[in-house]
Amino acid sequence: MRNFLVLLGPPGAGKGTQASLLCARLRVPHVSSGELFREHIRGKTDLGKHAQGYLGAGQLVPDEVTIAMIRERVSQPDCSRGALLDGFPRTPAQAEAFGKMARDLGGDVRAVVYLRVADAELIERLTGRWMCRAQGHIYHVQTHPPKKAGHCDLDGSELVQRDDDKVETVTRRLAVYHEQTAMLIDYYRNAGLLLEVDGARPEAEVAESIAAALKGRLD
Ligand code: AMP
Repeated sequence: MRNFLVLLGPPGAGKGTQASLLCARLRVPHVSSGELFREHIRGKTDLGKHAQGYLGAGQLVPDEVTIAMIRERVSQPDCSRGALLDGFPRTPAQAEAFGKMARDLGGDVRAVVYLRVADAELIERLTGRWMCRAQGHIYHVQTHPPKKAGHCDLDGSELVQRDDDKVETVTRRLAVYHEQTAMLIDYYRNAGLLLEVDGARPEAEVAESIAAALKGRLD
């Protein structure tokens, strides 16, 4: 049985951080659509060239391309027990396609964790975020500064700001979230899959709430 879990929430809600913690706990792969796109862009693949303009503008990559990329990823052997999806699905069409994809693979979407955070907090979080060039480790000027300014604690590589973490793009990404993704909260609530967690609290507390909310859901 493949158990698929989804982390849903606005950009900057902490999906990436919580997904890493949860994946280590559940021993399933972390499938981040944003990270997959960034890998393609770094690797200069055709998909990367196609996606680049959308990411730079804070717009969503078209559904068809995104769904095909995720299908390819979750069909790989390391996802044979399932996976935790972060950043996907982000539109109703993606959610429909994902449900079907999960069932085609002999599994199902077992739960959707929704990290709730207010817009003002998100803007502050995102515009202070820096990422290491080598592996994408995340830092924040206020909440999680690196030990040595401008360098990753873990691999020493240079810290850079993602183009889409610049203030204009952040505002655009939040608008896109409200227009195209926020409706998935009701979609999954109506499906009885939504687990709502207050994402504004410290990382460790959010992780505990997620673990508590998931108890009994994955047996
Ligand atoms: P993220 O790292 O999840 O914030 O994603 C960064 C960017 O990748 C987004 O602003 C979109 O341009 C693109 N992206 C990521 N996931 C999706 C998705 N599910 N559908 C469409 N575009 C996506």
